[in-house]
Amino acid sequence: MDRSNLFLRVRRFHAEGQKHDAVLDEILELDKPGLLYVATREDTESYATELRDGVLRGVEAAESRIRIDRSRLEMMRGYAETDGCRRQYLLGYFGDELENPCGNCDTCRARTDVDLTDDDLTDDDDAFPLQSAVLHRDWGPGIVMSKEDGRTTVLFDREGYKTLSLEAVAGAKVLRRARGGDRSLPAG
Ligand SMILES: [Zn+2]
Repeated sequence: MDRSNLFLRVRRFHAEGQKHDAVLDEILELDKPGLLYVATREDTESYATELRDGVLRGVEAAESRIRIDRSRLEMMRGYAETDGCRRQYLLGYFGDELENPCGNCDTCRARTDVDLTDDDLTDDDDAFPLQSAVLHRDWGPGIVMSKEDGRTTVLFDREGYKTLSLEAVAGAKVLRRARGGDRSLPAG
């Protein structure tokens, strides 16, 4: 899954109109042709109209109508909102582990800018290591997919992806390591 040549970046907007304008501005700067993926048919049509109306040529607005279940949407929200390495987050989502922050995403670059040492980037809280099997009081067995900023995202067999506060789960004792070692799901 890891394609290290691709630069990953997220920009957040509070207003739909701002996002729309920023997308159009950004397209101006990029090499053409390219693909623009949007979430809805309505977006596809509005971008296509504006791009076709002489703003730009040679750009195709492509429609991506992928059925995504809710837990996946939650994961994408986590990807967008994480302050950790986005590539580590994505690879974790696909069950792959990247040992060190990649240095080629916007959050890694932001960290480099403030000159953090490697030690600062290392997560030494190993109560729930990545890829370890855990058991939740209500949601049953799952696998730790990512951790940052005191939160962990767990893929539960029955419930899909859930993001939990490590402090809260430790305090309430709702989550524990499952016996049987890493990567193996506990029975029941
Ligand atoms: Zn990164």
